[in-house]
This record gives sequence, C-alpha cells and structure tokens, in this order.
Amino acid sequence: MNQNIQKEILQISKGLISFRATELNFSEKEACLGYIERYFKKISKGIYIKKIASRKYTGILISNSRNYSPDILLNGHIDVVGGEAEQFKPKIIKNKLYGRGSIDMKGAVAVFMVLMKKIIQEKMDKKVMLMLVGDEEIPNVATTDYLINNLNLRPKFTIVGEETDFDIVTSQKGNLNIKVEAKGRSVHSAFPEKGVNALEKCIKFYEGINNLKSFKEKTDYANTIALTYLRGGEAINSIPNSAQMGINIRLISKKTLNEINNYINKYKNRVKTGFNIKTYYSGSMMEDVTKQEQIKQLKKAITEVVRLKPKQTKTSTSSDARYFSSKKMPVVVFGPRGAKYHEEGEYVEISSLMIYYRILYQLIQQSN
Ligand SMILES: [Zn+2]
Repeated sequence: MNQNIQKEILQISKGLISFRATELNFSEKEACLGYIERYFKKISKGIYIKKIASRKYTGILISNSRNYSPDILLNGHIDVVGGEAEQFKPKIIKNKLYGRGSIDMKGAVAVFMVLMKKIIQEKMDKKVMLMLVGDEEIPNVATTDYLINNLNLRPKFTIVGEETDFDIVTSQKGNLNIKVEAKGRSVHSAFPEKGVNALEKCIKFYEGINNLKSFKEKTDYANTIALTYLRGGEAINSIPNSAQMGINIRLISKKTLNEINNYINKYKNRVKTGFNIKTYYSGSMMEDVTKQEQIKQLKKAITEVVRLKPKQTKTSTSSDARYFSSKKMPVVVFGPRGAKYHEEGEYVEISSLMIYYRILYQLIQQSN
C-alpha cells in the first residue's frame, strides 16, 4: 500500500519537474496545471476543481467540498526559478530526486496531489482544499492573495509546503527593495567642491538607513540590510554625474517598516532634486497568528509518524504564507527535506516525501 503511494508520489514529482514553468513561461505553466487537472479529472465524485489561467493569474483549486472555509488548506506553487535544460530532466540517485523545483516545491506538490486524491476516495469527513499557484516566485503577482480575496477563502488552518526539513515555521521576514537613482554634476576631480558627486549622495543615503535603530539589534532573527548594487562614474579623474543603488531589506516587524519609511520621507524633503527613491515589493512579513492548539496537533502528528522532535522556528525567506497571516488566518510553513533550492544540484530526499505524506494524512484525520 505505502509502496504504491510512494511510487505515485515519485512519478508525479518527476512529471512536474519536467515542466519548464519559469517566470514568464505561461504556456508551460498552463501545461503543468493541465497535467494536474487531468490527474484529478479521473476522480468522478466528490471533487470540485477550479482552474484559473489568465495572463495575470494562474492556479488551480481542488477540494472535496464546496465550502470555502476548509478545515485544512494545502498551499503550493508549480512555478520555478530558471535553470539549465538539464535541470528539467529529473534524476534519481539513491535517496535523492534531483531537478529544478524538486524541493521548491514540486515534491511537496506531488505529495499534496496524491494525498488529496486519497482523501476524496476515502470520503474522509474533513474539508480539505488544495491550492496550487503559478507565480510564487514572481514579485508583484500573487494568485494566492487573489484567490483568498476573490473567493473569500477562510481556511481554519493552512500549510504551505516549502522546504523546512519538518520544522514548523510560524514567522517569516518581509522583503523590501529600495532602488535609488542619483543625479550629480560632473566636474574635474581636482575641484570636487564645484560639482555634485552622485555616488557620494547614494552612500550618504545608505549609511543613514544602515544607522537606523532597527538594524542595531544582532539576534538570530533580526532585521537585515544589504547594499546589493552601486553603480556610477566614468573616469578616475571625473566626479560622477549619475549613480544607481539597490538595497534589499528583510524586516521582522511593521515598526521597522515605519522607521524606514519615515527616514525616506524626510530624506525626500531634504534632497529635493536629483535624487529618486523607489521602494517596491514591500512583501509583507508572515506574522505568527497560529493558535498553539494547532501547532500542538501538528507536532503530535509528526511525532506519531517519525522519531523527530518538532521545532517551531522563524526564517529569513518569504513565502505565500504571508497572504494568510496578514488576514489573521492560521498558517505555518511546513515541508519535506532537501536542499539547494534556486541553485544547481537542487534535490528532495525521496524518503522525506513519504514521511511528509504520512504526517499530513495523520494531521488531517485528527483535525477538528
Ligand atoms: Zn518555493
């Protein structure tokens, strides 16, 4: 029995990996969603499928009830970051399945699919919904958020299946990008006082942000700031008349966001010309809104399936979990074991997929 399930999970994982569902590859994303839809269309009873494939939003919802307040919602994405053609040919070596998106997160999606089918076939009395979207990796588009709002979804508990190595993630940092374009006035570098140095303007701005109170705290889970690019200047003996700078900030609280915004607004007032600051993709943070009772239930399911001491943690990366937490809907990020996501050599541990399946099955069965 378990062996058949494992075989099916592996087969689907491989099938999903072979789609080049990268950022702008809409046709591959649609093909991937079609593959998922066909899998579920073989089930004739007790299933509700809703597919969205517009230019803007791509995703599919599978559920075993018409209810939009499921007991459990499983959330995953089928899009991946780019990679070489070779990475879209899944490969198994011992306990590892290699391929683009194997851990991020087609392995988990395969588990969700097989599990969902099982739940429907067994006529389990829990209301479960599977949400798979095609744009988690793309800034500024969010089918997850769109579906929550558009259908007024109110899941009692959501699991986002990104890799966590079976840790239970209840908080994630927000992601704020700042792009700066500075104009100066070029003069001979022997007379810097006669010109305006665009690079120095950028550096001053960066140092100001870097010195904010928010970035002084050095704990494990703290705000971070990174200067990611700084470009400008033409010649060694000339004051640069233009410069560009990029800053990436990971936030742990709204307080930090306010502090940064205040700083930027004041700066804009002070430096009125030749300085353009754009902030964007203020990806909200995932705040801890989950009830202790739900964490307990998940921990219980974990320990019943595998000899693991489940840990509750916080991470620096972001995921679609933030769209649930920002609406105060209980959510955790919880997924199987693997490594090298967004890198070469990405893999998922095959045995962890089966463990993942069993934990989720247990959790859903015991949920109330
Ligand atoms: Zn992911």
